[in-house]
Amino acid sequence: MKNYIVGLTGGIGSGKSTVANLFKEYGIEYVDVDNISREIVLPGSTLLHLISDRYGESILNNDRSLDRAKLRRIIFNNLEEKKWLESITHPLIRQLTMEKIRRSRSEYCLLVHPLLFETGQDQICQAVIAISVSQHIQLERVCSRDKSTKEEALKIINSQLSNQERVAKAKYVIENTGNLDELGDKVSVLHQKILNTINE
Ligand code: ADP
Repeated sequence: MKNYIVGLTGGIGSGKSTVANLFKEYGIEYVDVDNISREIVLPGSTLLHLISDRYGESILNNDRSLDRAKLRRIIFNNLEEKKWLESITHPLIRQLTMEKIRRSRSEYCLLVHPLLFETGQDQICQAVIAISVSQHIQLERVCSRDKSTKEEALKIINSQLSNQERVAKAKYVIENTGNLDELGDKVSVLHQKILNTINE
C-alpha cells in the first residue's frame, strides 16, 4: 500500500509537536524531521565525528553531545559552512525519513518539518497542513519553551518562510491562536476531513 503523506509545517514554536501529538490520539503516526536531525548527530555517530573534526572539540558539550546552539551560530553567519553541514546531513535525514514513513501503518502519516517547503519535501506529500500563528504569539511561546532571548528567536523566525507564505502554499491551515482545547477541536475536524478525502 502506498503511504498517504500529510506534511505538517509551521515556524518554530507554532505548535507542530503539540499538533502532531493531538493527531496521535486518533492513531495517526508522525515522522518528525527535527527528531531525526537530532538522532543523526548523537555521540558516537559518524556525522558528529565529521562535525567535531571540522570545528574542533569546542563544538561539543561536556557530555560529548553536540552543542547545537554553537553550531547554529556558526552556520547562521556563514553560508559556506551552512552548505557543508547540509551536504552531510540532508541525505541521511531524507533516507531515514523515508524509511520511517514506509514503516508507518496508520491511515495516513504526518511528516512534521519546520522547513517542509524550503527543502522541497512538500513534493512527497499528498497534502500539507500549515500551522499559522502571529509572530507575537510565536515569540512568546519560543522564549518560554526554550528560555531563549527574543533576538535569538527572531533570528530563527526570520530565516524561515513567513507565516503568510506557508499558509498560501498549504492545502489546510490550522490557526493556533487559541487555547489547547480549541486546538484539539480543530485537529479533530481536520482529521475527519483528511480521512474523507482519502476515502473519496
Ligand atoms: P513547534 O514544535 O512548532 O516548535 P511546540 O508544539 O513545541 O512548537 O509549541 C511551542 C510551545 O508552545 C510549547 O511549549 C507548547 O506547549 C506551547 N503551545 C503550543 N500550542 C499552544 C496553545 N494553543 N496554547 C498554549 N500553549 C501552546
